[in-house]
Amino acid sequence: MATLKMRRPEAGEIPPGGGTAVQRDPATPVFSGNGPDDYVCVDCGNVLAVSMPPEYMNRKLRIRCARCRTVNVAVEVEGVDYAKAFGRRPADG
Ligand SMILES: [Zn+2]
Repeated sequence: MATLKMRRPEAGEIPPGGGTAVQRDPATPVFSGNGPDDYVCVDCGNVLAVSMPPEYMNRKLRIRCARCRTVNVAVEVEGVDYAKAFGRRPADG
């Protein structure tokens, strides 16, 4: 169980096949799963996703914070098989 800070996208960074999830209510995380970790906004620390399995939090995933409107990108961690999460079905868009 950990709380992980997301990161800002690099300049010109366009995630292949990715999209941006927009958080509408600062009190409501955009994603909720069955994993161990919570993810917070890099700028204001607002909670964006809760209980997420790490393989879903790859760099294609962006979340725009409802509180400060910063677009956050997930930090990829070494050793996580990201293909496991999104390889089974086509991502939206
Ligand atoms: Zn924020």
